[in-house]
Amino acid sequence: MKKIITVLLILCLAPAICAISACAPKKSEAHTNYDLFAIYDDENCTLTGTVGVDYYNSTENELTDLKFNLYGNAYRQGSAFPPVSQAYQSRAYYAGTNYGGMEITNVEGGSGWNVAGEDENVLIVNLAEPVYPEQRVQVKIGYTLQLAKINHRTGVTRDTVNLGNFYPVLCAYTTDGFIECPYYTCGDPFVSEVADYNVEIDIPEAYTAAASGKQVSESVAEGRRKTKFSLERARDFALVLSKNFKILTEETDGVKVSYYYTSDANADKSLAAACQSLAYFNKTFGNYCYPTLSVVQTGFCYGGMEYPALTMIAEGQSEADNAYTIVHENAHQWWYAMVGNNQLTCGWQDEGLAEYSTLMFFENHPAYGYTRTGIVGSATRSYRAFFSVYNQLNGSVDTTMTRNLGAFSSEFEYTNVTYNKGLIMFDTLRETIGDEKFTSCLKNYFKNCSGKIASAEDLIAAFAACGTDVEGLFASFIEGKILI
Ligand SMILES: [Zn+2]
Repeated sequence: MKKIITVLLILCLAPAICAISACAPKKSEAHTNYDLFAIYDDENCTLTGTVGVDYYNSTENELTDLKFNLYGNAYRQGSAFPPVSQAYQSRAYYAGTNYGGMEITNVEGGSGWNVAGEDENVLIVNLAEPVYPEQRVQVKIGYTLQLAKINHRTGVTRDTVNLGNFYPVLCAYTTDGFIECPYYTCGDPFVSEVADYNVEIDIPEAYTAAASGKQVSESVAEGRRKTKFSLERARDFALVLSKNFKILTEETDGVKVSYYYTSDANADKSLAAACQSLAYFNKTFGNYCYPTLSVVQTGFCYGGMEYPALTMIAEGQSEADNAYTIVHENAHQWWYAMVGNNQLTCGWQDEGLAEYSTLMFFENHPAYGYTRTGIVGSATRSYRAFFSVYNQLNGSVDTTMTRNLGAFSSEFEYTNVTYNKGLIMFDTLRETIGDEKFTSCLKNYFKNCSGKIASAEDLIAAFAACGTDVEGLFASFIEGKILI
């Protein structure tokens, strides 16, 4: 995600809690298949759908239950983890405060089910028979998603219908069991394994769907548009609908890159930033693995949001901010979508790398007007301002980077510790080991961890394997011992 930070965030303070971290390697390349079907009712702002899950047990354990994150339920009235912090309320709720929610209507294929978790955010499906390692089990879930009028990941905006996290998403499994993801306002509270997707969406004819996947077929009849998509090796699937999309398309390195926008006087430049960054990251880190990339302008209260093969870019940004956001979100295709990480505990791992990859792109494309010195200097000034303010407020500052999203007291703190300190850490690392080794280590990290949920140790090991003693440098930043 790309945040827009205002001074208001400094006032948003909450108590801290502790961190956990665990990422199990996958046993084989076989994985889960999703069959998603959904009908959108634009009069009532509801999505009615089914999720067929052909689950592959890649864990070492016999499982008696499956768990699914119900992110859409965070939007309901009275949720314990509302999706928007106080500082972003007015920017998000453009039509006044209103609510949505996700209701499970039925589950086939199990022996029972219930909705639980810290905030009615987890569906537990009890299996009729245990599923053993390397075995499969099928369940089908029916649900209704009521969409709030909100500029957010899941909601109806003035011009678009944002369908991020629109279906029950299987929880990733670690040595600690399934990871349940409360909807923390700081960061992206999502952790999931890669899967294959077949998706069918039934929408009013006037709408166009931008999607994570490649379009397989489309038919229009009786005022409805039915479109099928497919996507392989992806850890999520997202859609954005609109009646007002204009579309620009260009092929880059064999990938169909589409820019869906509603209002952008520099749409050709936005598409160029998307294509150039795709080409640069392909060359620098390794090849993008999806057939399409949709960059979609939406109503959104932050700068942008990443999903596999689809990025949401907030409307109304300046030309420079728009390009920066497009490049940052595209970098997440490498650091989040293809190489996953535990975003609940190690937000710096994908955000720090996405920020640093953005810096590398602009350093190599000077026409955009950004420089390495300028970006590092801006991150350093912002981080020091955060440190100073928090020191004055609290008498001390927690600058540890690996912590649960719930342990950050504000988006201001989260952004500085995760994005800015992360960027400074990778720049210091590059200064220490040199440009060639730095890029080569990132290539290896991408090659070894693509399709997996990489741990922080996997990232550090990728740099250590380049023959450089870097563990101490990572530790000094991550454990909060270095003074910046
Ligand atoms: Zn990001």
